[in-house]
Parts: sequence; structure tokens; C-alpha cells
Amino acid sequence: MGMSLRNNGLYHFRGLIFAAVAFIGLAVFAIGYTILNLRADTIEDAFKDTGNIATVLAEQVAQTGRSIDLVLSDVEDRATMLDIRKPGDFRRVMATEYGYLLLKSRADRFPQADLVSVVDSNGDLIASSRGWPLPALSLADRDYFQHFKNNTESHTYVSGPAKNRITGAPTVFFAKPLRADNKELLGLIVVGVSISKFWHVYETVGLLGEQGFILARTDGMVLVRYPEGLVHALAAIPPASPWYAAVENGGGNFRSPADLTADLRLVSIRPVPGYPLVVNVGVSEAVALSTWRQRSVSMAAGTLLAVICAFILLSAVANRVRLLRNSEASLAAKSRELEIAKAQTDAAVNNITQGISMFDAAQRLIVCNARYMEIYALSPDVIKPGATFQEILEYRKAHGNYINDPSHFIANSAEHVQEGKKFTHTATLTDGRVIAVAANPTMDGGWVATHEDITERHHAQVLIAHMASHDTLTGLCNRMAFEERLNEAIIRLNRHGEKFSLIMFDLDKFKTVNDTLGHLVGDAVFKGVGERVKSCVCELDTAARLGGDEFVILQAHVDDPEESARTLANRLLDAMREPFTIDGCELPASVSIGIALAPKDGSDMEKLVRRADLALYRAKAEGRNRLRFFDADIDMPEPGMPKTHPRLTD
Ligand code: GH3
Ligand code: MG
Repeated sequence: MGMSLRNNGLYHFRGLIFAAVAFIGLAVFAIGYTILNLRADTIEDAFKDTGNIATVLAEQVAQTGRSIDLVLSDVEDRATMLDIRKPGDFRRVMATEYGYLLLKSRADRFPQADLVSVVDSNGDLIASSRGWPLPALSLADRDYFQHFKNNTESHTYVSGPAKNRITGAPTVFFAKPLRADNKELLGLIVVGVSISKFWHVYETVGLLGEQGFILARTDGMVLVRYPEGLVHALAAIPPASPWYAAVENGGGNFRSPADLTADLRLVSIRPVPGYPLVVNVGVSEAVALSTWRQRSVSMAAGTLLAVICAFILLSAVANRVRLLRNSEASLAAKSRELEIAKAQTDAAVNNITQGISMFDAAQRLIVCNARYMEIYALSPDVIKPGATFQEILEYRKAHGNYINDPSHFIANSAEHVQEGKKFTHTATLTDGRVIAVAANPTMDGGWVATHEDITERHHAQVLIAHMASHDTLTGLCNRMAFEERLNEAIIRLNRHGEKFSLIMFDLDKFKTVNDTLGHLVGDAVFKGVGERVKSCVCELDTAARLGGDEFVILQAHVDDPEESARTLANRLLDAMREPFTIDGCELPASVSIGIALAPKDGSDMEKLVRRADLALYRAKAEGRNRLRFFDADIDMPEPGMPKTHPRLTD
């Protein structure tokens, strides 16, 4: 589930990244498209400019042409009026001062004309506005002369640029033929316009240096170009140029290849109305696009910057997400490890035989295992993590498995925790179970405790301890335990002057019982004796079987040892009066008792035991079934008697 969610999130994130990249791509495409459109618009605008200028210039040139035509027609009219009919007539009339003055006056009227000349049918210059008389000059080689000589046309002819043979300036000639009625060429009237005059025309339009201007004939011959440096100095438009198609179409725009001009140019051409002339206005594409280029560069730079920023941002976000994903994955792995570890710990904690409980500094249960709940019969519905120690003890008290006062125990535990000491105790529950509790204070001021049901072990230990200190046959203390108690009594005597007495007794003639009825019956009698001795003593007394048929009672904590001992001894003698019933047979038994008093008869073990023993033997000697206090006259043992009791010194 978690995995698929993560994958889903990843899928969404990848989708977002793709969307962002696509969006950036779209923006870049839109900007690129806009830049290209702007370029097309700029080129269109440039064409509009050049077209407008070309239209204006074509009109200017047409104007000039019409002015020249006027001059030409005027001279033609004059010639007609003078009745020039043959080639010779022309020379006769015009190669005169009159001719000179006529031409000069016409030239003066039209300031753009450098000269107005007349050429005869042989191509010789016969008159010119430049001066009179004229040097002999043949213009038979001129293109305009060649043009009219070879056909019968009478339209104005525009020559290619040529050097003025008089002024030497580059000049374009406008020539008009004068023909006889039979179309024979009589001569030519020629108006020369210096190329620089055309520049003037061009400059008056007020153009700046960016645009270039070419005036060409419709056959492609270049007449005028301006400025010289900007326009390629070709004599004619190359035949492959789209120029010719544009001229055919009566004008148009085209991009001129670099072979025609110094660089790639945007060219508009307009035919000059009424003349076989074409005006070209061109601008360098690089110049026309310079503003567009600057803008495009800034736009592209801005876009690039934005794209870089966007990609940096995207990669930063992607990195973040990658980091997040990694840490999420490691977190998931860690939590899986933790889950496993917790499951293992839980399995361990819930399967051990000990109960475990952990409390915090506020004595609230943090955690416990099932065994803990089971040992104290706690209800999981009532006792939960967060329950206080007091609540738990009170619950136990209410359910009868806690004996003591909870508040006292709580205070005691808190003290131990504060001291940082491990504390152990054995709790006995009301149902007799014994629980060993070991608590260890924790760093945070709480504690963790283990609870172990040690009932069986405890009972075994109690039994072993009992067996080690008791006689198995009678259930009375054995000699070792008796000696311990006697030692303690002697210490108390020495320290506090606490008096006590030793009441030693031995069954009378017991060997007979044993010998006649057997050991088993003897043992049964011993058991009976043990019972009766127990019924005679109080819990402060220590009754012991020393060995064989010899017993002793240590009587302490009494004000008058002699009196108390006597009373007890008499009680013993009385208790023995009743016969024992063993296997249906009645067996009479009696004891002889010897008593030694401490400190009157001694204050060390050896002396007291010996003296009690001596008193016992004296009782035996005096007829048995009686008691005898030790006194000085029995201190001397009878001949043949051991000085000390053999069983106590073994
Ligand atoms: P006395 O009156 O002088 O004491 O005579 P007695 O026969 O009792 O002699 P004594 O006290 O010297 O002997 C003790 C006898 O007790 C010896 C033995 O047969 C018997 N006896 C000792 N220990 C045991 C025992 O553990 N079981 C049985 N059944 N008999 C024992
Ligand atoms: Mg005996």
C-alpha cells in the first residue's frame, strides 16, 4: 500500500517535471516564433520603405525625363519649322551660331541638363550648348547614334553612362532622332545629364545613407548608382537576377544575392513611367535587421536566462524530491527494521517466564508483558500503560492479592529509585505464591522490574533449610540447630544478662522397646515423644533431639529460669504418663530430666551441657521418671561415668 502510494507520488512528480519542461519548451517555441515573425515584419517594413522611396524616385526620374523630352521636342519643333528635310539641311541650319544660341537657351531653361547637342546623320557633332565654334568631334560610336542609325524608331533613347567628350564628366544621354519623311535619319538631338545630377535628385528626396539607389535601363544596363561605395559597381544587372522578372511584372521586391551588391540586400524596383528606366532602392538586410537583431538577442538572452533559471529550479526541486524519496525509503526500511525488532522484543518479552514492568518518573506504567498481568491477576481492561503504580497496587489490594499498605510500599520504592539503587524483595501473595521482584532504577527516574514466581523454589528452599536444622524423625531441631540457638542464648546472656535453662531428658529403658519390638516401633515412639514435647514447649523454646533417645529443651526469655524450667519439666513428665499406642499396643514410656541453669551453673556451652547431662544421669541414678537440677554435689561424676556427654562432643 505504502509502496504504491510512493510510486504514485513519484509518477505525479515525473508528470509535473515533464509538464514543466514541456511548458518551458512551448514558451521557448513561442518566443522563437515571435522573433521569426518580427523578422518577417521587419523585412516587410524595410520593403515598404524601399518601395516608397523607389516610387518617389521613379516619379522624380520621370519628371526629369519629361523635362528633357520638352527640350528635345522644342528643338525638334524648331528644326521642323526651319524646314530641315535633308541631312545637309540640318548641318546647314544648326552648325551655326544660331544653332549654338538655340541650344544654349534651351539648356539654360533646364538646369539639370549639362549640355544640349545636335549630331548629324554621320555621327558628327554639329552644334552644342557648350560653345561655338566647335572642334570636329565624331559621336558615331556612341550607343544612341548606333541605336537610331540602325532602325527607324523615333522614341527618346537613354544611353548608357559615358564620358562627356567635352567636360569629361560621366553622363547619361537622352537622344531623340530627327527624321525625314522617308524616315531617313537627319540627325539627333541629345541632352546630356551628368550622373552627379541624378545624385542630386536622389539627395533631394532626403534619404539617409542606409539605402542605395540604382537607376538602370529596362535591359539591365546600370546608368546611375548612389552612393558609389554602397552599391556594387556593376555595369549591368546580372542576367540571372530576379530583377528582370520584377521588371517584367512592372515592379516588385526581392532579396538580391550578394553578387549584385556588397551584401545581401532587400531591393524594391519601380519602373519609371513612360521611360525604359527602372529605379532600384535597396537596403542591406543586415542593416535593416539590426534593430530586430538587437531586440532578438535581448529576447533570446532573456529567454535563455529564464530557461536556465527554470532548469536550475527544476533540478533543485528534483534533487529535493530525490533526497526526500531516499530518506523516505530509508525511513521505511528503518521502520521495517524497528517493526521486526519490536516484534522480536515483544516475542521475547511475552514468552519469558518472568513478568516485566517499566514505570516512568511519575510512577506511571510505560509497558509490561502478559506474564506481569498474569502473575498479579491484573485485568488488561483496567490496567493499561499510563496507570499509576498506586492504582495497580490498589487494584491488587481490592482483588485480594496484596497484603501490605500500598502507600508505604510506594514511598519505599520511590526512595530506592531516588538513590539509584537496585532493590529486590520477595512478595508473598495471599494465595501463597511467592514472587521475587528485582527492580532497577532507569536513567529517566523510573524503574524497570522483573517479577518471578519462585513459589516452588521457595518451598524447596524452606524444606531444605528445615531438613538441615531438624530431626527428620521427630520434627524437632537437630543438634546443629540446637547448638546455634544455645550459642545465641549465651551471647544474649553475656550482652544483656538474659538468663536461660537447659532441660535435658532421655527415655527410660528404651533399649528394651527397641530390642523387643524392633526399630520401627522404636521410631514410632520417637515420633510420639516429639509430638508430646512440642505440645509442652512454647514458641520461644527450642526443643531438639540430640541423638539416640536423648532430647534437650533450651528455655529462654524467662524471668525465673529455675521456676520456669521446673514447670516445663513437670509438664514433660506429665505428658509421658499416658502410654503410646503403636499398632494397637500400648507402650508406656517415661523420661528422666536433668536441668542446668545459666548463668548459675555456667555460662559456656560445654559446661552447661555437661552439667545438665550430669543432672540427667543423677535422675536416672535416682530411679528414672523424674527431674533433677544440677547442684554442686553432683558435679563430681560417679565412678565409671563419662565426664562429658559423648553425643555432644562427637
Ligand atoms: P536408660 O534408662 O539408661 O536410658 O536405658 P536405655 O535402654 O534407654 O539405654 P540408652 O539410653 O543408653 O540407650 C538408648 C537406646 O535407644 C539404644 C538404642 O537401642 C535406642 N536407639 C537409639 N537411637 C535410635 C533410633 O534412632 N531408633 C530406634 N528405634 N532406637 C534407637
Ligand atoms: Mg535412654
